[in-house]
Amino acid sequence: MASQEIENLVQALSKLPGLGPRSARRAVLHLLKRPETTMKPILAAMEKVDANLVTCNICGNVDTQDPCQICNDPRRDPKALCVVEEVSDLWALDKSRLFPGKFHVLGGRLSALDGVRPEDIAIDKLITRVEQGGIDEVVLAMNATLEGQTTAHYIAERLENYPLRLSQLSHGIPVGGELDYLDEGTLAQALRSRRPVSGT
Ligand SMILES: [Zn+2]
Repeated sequence: MASQEIENLVQALSKLPGLGPRSARRAVLHLLKRPETTMKPILAAMEKVDANLVTCNICGNVDTQDPCQICNDPRRDPKALCVVEEVSDLWALDKSRLFPGKFHVLGGRLSALDGVRPEDIAIDKLITRVEQGGIDEVVLAMNATLEGQTTAHYIAERLENYPLRLSQLSHGIPVGGELDYLDEGTLAQALRSRRPVSGT
């Protein structure tokens, strides 16, 4: 029915999470109906983000400035660091506004199955940040999955000889739960009831 150009747009959109071919088609129809108020602002926003997109060299967040807004924010407590697997987890936690400190994105989790080793994610970078000093609390906010917990345990071992309060998210995260799917209430409770890391 539609031209190849429009089909290409539908196909591209249908690859986004949460959008299948049907909803992509609906979205495109919506864009085409009122291009001035829907398509043009999206296009402009995307171009702007695309032109300035960077990964923060300090924490691994994705932003349009480096260091990112969070690392640059003087109101945040630089002594507290929350370690997460992915940028999506950082955004989910940051949205809850419950953690007053800064973040560190690992960019994955240890996985024997997928062959992800400590040197494949930003663990050494985390240790370097801690070694530089000025950090007195590290919160391990890994997903409540086997791999997430393996990662947390490994990091706890690597950090055990540093003078830090080390804690990890506790109750409220369902087993197998992924942080960026949790509602803010659950996330808030998990952060409030974080517990010292045991077994190190
Ligand atoms: Zn940053």
